[in-house]
Amino acid sequence: MSSDDGVHTICPYCGVGCGLRLERDGEEGDVTISPWFDAPVNEGALCVKGGASTEVVAHEDRLTEPLIRDDGEFRSASWDEALEVVVAELERIREEHGPDAMGFFGSSKVMNEENYLLQKLARRYGTNNVDNCTRMCHASTVYTLRNSLGAGAMTNSMDDLRDHADVFWVQGANPAEQHVITHSHYVRPALREGATLIQVDPHANKTTTDADVHLQLEPGTDIPLLNVVLKTIIDEGWVDDAFVDARTTGVDHLKATLADVDVETAAETCGVPLEEIREAARIYATADNAAIFTGMGMSQHRCGVDNVQNEVNLALLTGNVGRPGTGVNPLRGQNNVQGTCDVGAMPNVLPGYREVDDEAARSAVEDVWGFEVPAEPGLTNVEITHAAGESVAGLYVMGENPVMSEPDSSAVEDRLEELEFVVVQDIFMTETAAFADVVLPATSWAERGGTVTNTDRRVQLMRPATAVPGNTRHDLDILRDVGTRLFGDPDSSDQTTTDSGFDFDGPEAVFEELREVAPIYHGITYERLGLEGVQWPCYEEGDAGDQYLYAESFDTEDGLGVIRGVRHTEPAEGPDETYPLILTTARLEEHYNTGTMSTRSPTLRRRTPENFVDIHPDDAADRGIEDGDYVTLRTRRGEIVLEANVTEAIKQGSVWTTPHFSDARANTLTNDVLDPLAKIPEYKAAAVEVEPT
Ligand code: SF4
Repeated sequence: MSSDDGVHTICPYCGVGCGLRLERDGEEGDVTISPWFDAPVNEGALCVKGGASTEVVAHEDRLTEPLIRDDGEFRSASWDEALEVVVAELERIREEHGPDAMGFFGSSKVMNEENYLLQKLARRYGTNNVDNCTRMCHASTVYTLRNSLGAGAMTNSMDDLRDHADVFWVQGANPAEQHVITHSHYVRPALREGATLIQVDPHANKTTTDADVHLQLEPGTDIPLLNVVLKTIIDEGWVDDAFVDARTTGVDHLKATLADVDVETAAETCGVPLEEIREAARIYATADNAAIFTGMGMSQHRCGVDNVQNEVNLALLTGNVGRPGTGVNPLRGQNNVQGTCDVGAMPNVLPGYREVDDEAARSAVEDVWGFEVPAEPGLTNVEITHAAGESVAGLYVMGENPVMSEPDSSAVEDRLEELEFVVVQDIFMTETAAFADVVLPATSWAERGGTVTNTDRRVQLMRPATAVPGNTRHDLDILRDVGTRLFGDPDSSDQTTTDSGFDFDGPEAVFEELREVAPIYHGITYERLGLEGVQWPCYEEGDAGDQYLYAESFDTEDGLGVIRGVRHTEPAEGPDETYPLILTTARLEEHYNTGTMSTRSPTLRRRTPENFVDIHPDDAADRGIEDGDYVTLRTRRGEIVLEANVTEAIKQGSVWTTPHFSDARANTLTNDVLDPLAKIPEYKAAAVEVEPT
């Protein structure tokens, strides 16, 4: 909606989905923010990132012309020339190597319609090698929640958690800094009314300030900690037997798994006093309504699927699912991370989470699309990068930056060098775009419209507020042009009118097709979204959308929630003589993921201008390191230099840093070992040494 009062749209940063209002301030391309006081999620409030989000819109580094690499150097090109190269290379790679030699990366920074069109492009091209950055953050959470409960999403909503939760169990998440408005507008009000906050995290942070209990465990010991909790609940008779009997399966497996867990040893493994864990178990299990918030501290492990399963076990065992104020609730990191998965930008599922290897599901989508979809699940994004130069010859990247976001980033750079063709669509010359053969300049969040889906399944409209700069194009229009050129009738003089399956005249037309193939979105229309948005699942236009899931039954084959006992899997790398500490990573309040946008924001850069490492005073003293010294962090994969922050916020034996800064790139250090099921990398634990520089 555009009006004299400005344009209502959604913050481009985290998954909370805060609304804001943009006004042009007279300068070409410049926009400023004014509060949207009745925005459905945030009622006008914004965190520091949201408040500074317009600073990158008219930034001088914006890409404004298509670029083609000639003799190793980029030169400006027309759109016609750039798209001709892209289409010719896509056709050549398919002819010479087959369609599975291409990989397609979508992005949670990009809207539903654009990710929908990218995955359709990949599938019409003939491959399911399409994925998005969710693989890096919550792939394991989505996997577990889909398989054990039914939907890969928050079971509940921020509204009902604020109004009904008596206990918040926050494990591996830091909402006070990473989902600021969730914490300030939903968790804190509940705490003021008497709710209790239990935090499980190796690193003390702003959430700890509000926590009643902080279980500061060793990185990678979430399973033993939760096994102590589960065993305590069973031993003390706090199981909700009626719920377990009527609505779950697998409790015997859990009990058998826990039978040989020695709680003293498990607590020692975690580095947390046994009595503190037991007390936390009591608080959670005896609450009327207890809710779990889970984050990347749980998901980004080689046992990420099992980590999240143990949270599901906790919720099911105590009957804390299917009611307001309960559930297992992943806090999503990017403004469209939920939607990117919903629309099928994943190698194993089509829009609406229909499995590609399910013939009936596939053919329902094929009927709408009019072409055959490959039946084999494709490669995930890290697998695509690993196969670069071998089975993968080309990469199509929309809004992603794998050189910064994938683990072992020096190896990622080497592999990108091996590719025959790379095309990148983005708003800035990213670290990945530097490896591209063609760079296509895209419009930013303030310049285009479409939908995004926030962390509690709310589909919301973003609206364009300012003119398209230079010779940039919307991601949607770029994909439409690539699709019509690739699949349109070559004999037609006007390919945009041919039946290519890509000749959409804007995001709403794409959304209409998405509704047809994704039943959970079927009842949502642009008209219905208005300023409030609609939560999925929304199967029919009359549906209001669900605030919380599983009131009656779970969306599993037999309608039962799956309990499954899990055993401790140690991180792939433990401390040794050469690398005696454990490195873990997490995001900052004032920066965002690979830093492409936030490190270009003067306000955010002023607050935290460079990377740093938290190190415990005893570990620092052992190495002769003082607060503010520059130190070298070294793992088996590489090293970076950054400032030491000597603090008791991190346990002795561990160090903590952030992934946002390209000049001290934390992912140079991280380990690319994957969870075997969800294929998420183990960002959260790597053996490391720290030395004075
Ligand atoms: Fe934007 Fe998230 Fe901050 Fe809200 S909490 S303003 S969505 S970054």
